[in-house]
Amino acid sequence: MPMQSAVFELPEVRERIVGLHERVPLLNGEQREYINLDNAASTPALREVMDTVNSFMRWYSSVHRGTGFKSRVATEAYDEARRIVAEFVGANSQAHTVIFGKNTTEAINKLSYRFPLKPDDVVLVSLLEHHSNDLPWRGHAHVEHIAADECGRLDEDDFDRLLHQYKGRVKLVAITGASNVTGHLPDIHNLATKAHAAGAQILVDCAQLAPHRSIAMGPLDDPAHLDYVALSAHKMYAPFGTGVLIGRRDTFEQGEPEYRGGGTIEFVTQHSVEWAAPPERDEAGSPNVVGAVALAAAIKALKLLGMQAIAEHEASLTAYTLERMRAVDGIEIYGDTDPQAASTRLGVIPFNVKELSHFLVAAILGTEFGIV
Ligand code: PMP
Repeated sequence: MPMQSAVFELPEVRERIVGLHERVPLLNGEQREYINLDNAASTPALREVMDTVNSFMRWYSSVHRGTGFKSRVATEAYDEARRIVAEFVGANSQAHTVIFGKNTTEAINKLSYRFPLKPDDVVLVSLLEHHSNDLPWRGHAHVEHIAADECGRLDEDDFDRLLHQYKGRVKLVAITGASNVTGHLPDIHNLATKAHAAGAQILVDCAQLAPHRSIAMGPLDDPAHLDYVALSAHKMYAPFGTGVLIGRRDTFEQGEPEYRGGGTIEFVTQHSVEWAAPPERDEAGSPNVVGAVALAAAIKALKLLGMQAIAEHEASLTAYTLERMRAVDGIEIYGDTDPQAASTRLGVIPFNVKELSHFLVAAILGTEFGIV
């Protein structure tokens, strides 16, 4: 990869965003360089990722079945991507398994099918959750929502209250690692410690967290460990259709996969099935090898920059943006607006222009100014 230095050189890195200087048409017929502030929804590709994908395509072939040279190269690249993802989230091959899928939504849905739940069991989610970490649980258990305060921060007292109220029934805490609405960062390891003490496990939706902070799932005997983590590559500069569920191997060693098909079995006859070990049991059909290779390339690039350097740089941008936005009359900023607290949250800044519909504000910015 061309990016060799661990030194954070902002202008250089920024220039590595594919399509950065693309011009778009405005309503008045003029053209303007697109200003993309919508990275919390989806990120463009990084040059490193595009380059890796382009060179990999010459070697692309079916994985885990062919004996041909290209098949072996592609299989090795896919397996290596699994190892890179595992390392990135602090998982280890004895305790955890890394299951590739489409995105965070699919990863959480998978866990909702594979985590042993009875209708009377309780899953604690929060009012901060993206629908993708709320709706999947409703079909499988009784779902309770942990409250949020007026700034959109998780109300930990309410979490304690719910754990106590549903003592013995809470089987899973499914919580976001970072809010896609306010950038708030719940104290996930503290929640994990309390969840484990109450006999529950914890899933952290890392769709927003993963591109911004290092993740440490930790060993299972650490009370603060995370049992499951879900993430999406398209929020990490690798938009090639891949997401990952990293989770406790013992959960996926049991039970039947919700999707069945090629690759999921160890042995099959007309009348019996022996399921494959994790992760194959949970990856039915031909996997998205290119997506996995792209994600691995993105992770390598993020690690080269250093998650700490990324967090520090982000905090300075967030503080600057909050200061400038607060100085504009008529803008209403939601969530925590304190620039001094920028390092304690992500740089997602929700705002509106007072008295205007948020939809209209977004439409004007997009169509008249090329700002999204
Ligand atoms: N969780 C959070 C916190 C998110 O921000 C998103 C995407 N906005 C998702 C889950 C869903 O991610 P995906 O669409 O990649 O499945």
